Amino acid sequence: MTATNEQRELAGVLDGVRTLEGEGFLVRRPFPNARLDHLGPFLLLDEMGPSDNAPGEAKGAPDHPHRGFETVTYLIDGAIEHKDSIGGGGVIAPGEVQWMTAGSGIIHSEMPTQEILTDGGRVHGFQLWVNLPASAKWHKPRYQDLTGSQLPTIDLDGAKAVLIAGEAFGVKGAADTFLPITYMHLSVDPESETVLELERDQVAFVYAFRGDGDITAAREPFLEGQMAVFDQGGGKIRIGAGTDGLEAIVGSAEPLNEPVARYGPFVMNTREEIVQAFDDFHAGRLGQIEPERF
Ligand code: MN
Repeated sequence: MTATNEQRELAGVLDGVRTLEGEGFLVRRPFPNARLDHLGPFLLLDEMGPSDNAPGEAKGAPDHPHRGFETVTYLIDGAIEHKDSIGGGGVIAPGEVQWMTAGSGIIHSEMPTQEILTDGGRVHGFQLWVNLPASAKWHKPRYQDLTGSQLPTIDLDGAKAVLIAGEAFGVKGAADTFLPITYMHLSVDPESETVLELERDQVAFVYAFRGDGDITAAREPFLEGQMAVFDQGGGKIRIGAGTDGLEAIVGSAEPLNEPVARYGPFVMNTREEIVQAFDDFHAGRLGQIEPERF
């Protein structure tokens, strides 16, 4: 890290909005919205829950397609069962990341496990959508399942960070990305502060999901559910926590200067490619999830 007193200025603050996804599970979504369609290659951030489900209440996202981007699921509480049209499947457990490159296209389901459906329980996590450069939109679908030591915890003075991708505080994350991206879960201790220093050619967001505090050297109020957005530029980003501490999801990436055509689960470069994606999906060319055998 370069020693500098330069501070990065806040471009804006967005309020996360609660909405329902899939078959009706609660998410809080700071973007996209009317103010911000995407930020560099970042297309969407959903905080799933936290929801405390009674027996039989937990909801998920049954079979649905994706093409042209990646979904990054990071789970804090609960368990998500995943199945797809290329014969893959498994359970995402707390503290784990599933980095799925949908690429040319996949159909998958993301559901509560049978145990959570039957017994109930808390579900809390995040799903980030990451755009692919045009040159990688037709990449074969692939997964990176990151667990344990693949998600290094960095102990800082007054804070800690779980690094998922990229580089922060001199540590490298494990995820293999098509574009330079940094992605982490940051926890600031009560009444403490920490300073992020991100690459100057990267745009960035900081989404506060637990606890209130303030952000930047100007100590702008930063409340639970808000996302602070930063344009490119060097300098440090100071994050301060109030009496309950503050937890945040942080992303930074170089802008992707390519046209974005998006509709629902498809993100391509042109409208024609979106129409083609719907045609391919409806014609069964994205495959199907094999039904259970009895
Ligand atoms: Mn999905």
